[in-house]
Amino acid sequence: MRSSILIIYTGGTIGMKTDADTGALVPFDFSGIYEEFPSLKRLNVDIDVHTLSPVIDSSNVSPENWVTLAELIRDNYARYDGFVVLHGTDTMSYTASALSFMLENLAKPVVFTGSQIPIGVLRTDGRENLITAIEIAGAQLDGRPEVPEVSLYFQNRLFRANRTTKRSAEALSAFRSYNYPPLAEVGVNIAYNLPAIRRPEEYPRELRIATRLSGGIELIKLFPGLDERILRAMLSAPGLRAVVLETFGAGNAPTSEWFIRVLEEAIGRGIILLNITQCGGGQVSMGLYDTGLRLQRIGALCGYDMTTEAAVTKLMYVLGLGLGEEETRERLRIPLRGEFTA
Ligand code: ASP
Repeated sequence: MRSSILIIYTGGTIGMKTDADTGALVPFDFSGIYEEFPSLKRLNVDIDVHTLSPVIDSSNVSPENWVTLAELIRDNYARYDGFVVLHGTDTMSYTASALSFMLENLAKPVVFTGSQIPIGVLRTDGRENLITAIEIAGAQLDGRPEVPEVSLYFQNRLFRANRTTKRSAEALSAFRSYNYPPLAEVGVNIAYNLPAIRRPEEYPRELRIATRLSGGIELIKLFPGLDERILRAMLSAPGLRAVVLETFGAGNAPTSEWFIRVLEEAIGRGIILLNITQCGGGQVSMGLYDTGLRLQRIGALCGYDMTTEAAVTKLMYVLGLGLGEEETRERLRIPLRGEFTA
């Protein structure tokens, strides 16, 4: 069966091409995709392109852009079998993680991709990333989408988006999913890792989206020598609602009295503290050492093996739901979209 795919171009390196006259990099018009890549016609997919206006370098992306993206997917959800989002690599894992939460009952593929080298440069990685992302977005298994979740495709690997992190500003394999296996590996064939892919309990489902994302989130990375006055000031910021605390190793932090007291006071003021590890791989296990246990006792929540990108965007999403305190904490304790393994 032929699939129909909507490509949403948001900006980033993938969309750049060398101007024949000036030699400068200029944005590529993706609506001319078939002229540029005639081989796409051989894929079993029909493609439409939507370019966001204005296109942005992904360092400028904001939660407002995420809402625009979610609305665009919702408005086109019934018309297409899958979506490919072309995005700058710098913050792609943030946007893709945010969308994984905001698209509440997704049952179709949303595949993020981009490139390290502009699409108009001979040695680009963008061509392969784009073509394979389209193929994955259109792939079906027994008449159902093969990968009905928010994913990120880069350099021969398809990942669950909310497990990814940009790990290199240089390598073409720019993304890693340290704590979850790839959803697919691409060689001569696309080998889907079926047990790793999330599937909705029922089809068809109408897409519901969350459009309220909370502000008031802070990210604090611990280091030896962190100053009491500075930490106190950070935790007293007006409007602060939740802190992602990047701790050491398996969720460990200093046990000094002042440190625990400052955090405890913040929790007492209703601020949520979510403990994730600053290590790429592995997970927080707060009962393992006294240095982690202290955080657990004062009420810090365990972020298990969540990435920073998933932790930040999950807090924005969950706090934006406007639930009561206990229900909010409950949503943070469980994986909502496969974002952590407890
Ligand atoms: N600065 C670019 C961006 O994130 C880099 C890229 O696309 O790879 O928009």
